[in-house]
Amino acid sequence: MAKGNEAYDIWWEKAGEKEKKEAFRFSDEYMAFLQSCKTEREVSAYAVSCLEKQKYADLDVLVEKDKGKGNLLAPGDKVYRNCQGKSILAAVIGKQPLNRGVNAIAAHIDSPRLDFKQNPFYEDSHLTLAKTHYYGGIKKYQWVCMPLALHGVVFLKNGNKVEVRVGDQEGDPCFVITDLLPHLAQKQMEKKVAEAVTGEGLNVLLGSLPDKEKPKEKGADQENAGQPVKSMLLRILKETYGVEERDFVSAEIEVVPALPVKDIGFDRSMIGGYGHDDRVCAYAALKALLDSKGVPEKTMVLYLADKEEVGSQGNTGAQSVALRNFLSELCAATSDRYQDLIAYRCFAASHLLSADVGSAVDPNFKDVQDPLNANYLGKGMVLEKYTGRAGKSGGSDANPEFIAALRQLFDKDAIAWQTGEIGKVDLGGGGTVAAFMANLGMQVVDCGVPVLSMHSPYEVVSKGDLYQTYLAYKTFFLNFG
Ligand code: MN
Ligand code: MN
Repeated sequence: MAKGNEAYDIWWEKAGEKEKKEAFRFSDEYMAFLQSCKTEREVSAYAVSCLEKQKYADLDVLVEKDKGKGNLLAPGDKVYRNCQGKSILAAVIGKQPLNRGVNAIAAHIDSPRLDFKQNPFYEDSHLTLAKTHYYGGIKKYQWVCMPLALHGVVFLKNGNKVEVRVGDQEGDPCFVITDLLPHLAQKQMEKKVAEAVTGEGLNVLLGSLPDKEKPKEKGADQENAGQPVKSMLLRILKETYGVEERDFVSAEIEVVPALPVKDIGFDRSMIGGYGHDDRVCAYAALKALLDSKGVPEKTMVLYLADKEEVGSQGNTGAQSVALRNFLSELCAATSDRYQDLIAYRCFAASHLLSADVGSAVDPNFKDVQDPLNANYLGKGMVLEKYTGRAGKSGGSDANPEFIAALRQLFDKDAIAWQTGEIGKVDLGGGGTVAAFMANLGMQVVDCGVPVLSMHSPYEVVSKGDLYQTYLAYKTFFLNFG
């Protein structure tokens, strides 16, 4: 290992008691957030409530009220946009005009999970189950034999929304995907790990009680004649939520782990939980924005995006025009001068941290890392110059000028940070939203919290890394450029 580099010190060794306490306190709040926000909708609602508490105004409401006079926004003004309840944009207008660029942080708020299919329910062997289609890059075998919760929304035919959240509150029942007993698993155990549990085999167990009432002569109930356990499930859903089987065609029900967020280790230095990727960076970035008080020099922009785990497509994903439109509107709303309306100038002068988790060295799987260019739990925020796979393909590559400026800022503020790749060359790879923002002309680099067991139902992060990442984001918002 290279030594003597500040970046490669363990932060805990340098941290004083006060800082350590602060890191633990910050982590407690994060853990409460992670426990209650398990979907992109839940994170969006949380973010909006925090923003509104701090008097951020809904940009769409402001624009609606505006009489088109220009100069709608002035330095110090705070605005946000809620993109369909699944993605959030927020900004604090800085002293400098928008054409000098913004300091932006983008994180994603979706996580790998299982989604209900649109026709989910069926009965088999006197049990009733739900069909799912997995979302994002999961190892399917990790999702069996574990308590599961259902979070989501059902839209009735009349457009009314019903929120569903069951499985992880005190007193709730939970759900499970069963696995084959070892006694009969001889063939399964000989399969490749990727094939031992199949996508179509990820069916969630929902009930076993039969409905004793006879199905009516006509109507939807008739379709389920001879399926008394499924009928019972539908009866319960109707009584509890007022929803019918057909309503699930207009629903998004996400199957997520019902595991509690917990301290990990005798020293309580780490956090175990579902969805650190990428709620740990989303939370750090949101808090950094909320805690950056006063009128900043540069406009601060936060982007919490959906759909990263499936490629960032769609109108709530980072490949959409959402950020571009938001910045363009800010340009227009802060000026009455033609040149300030040209958002291109704003993009080209902007700097963005693509806030996403990094992979940490796992002592059980050390051979996938190049130790000189790997990230370790406890060494602070990960700064990743480039992403991609097999020849950096499909990734984003930051300009060294930007990294030099960040080094200067982070070192000045004594932020613990490290630099590394996701893993060894040609073993795999990955990327996140960075490239889409870089395509707009912005200076972009990936940076975030290192994670163990990434994309599993129970990921692990270090409290020290989380806290250092929060401090890095905060100083970037306030002091960069
Ligand atoms: Mn991610
Ligand atoms: Mn991910």
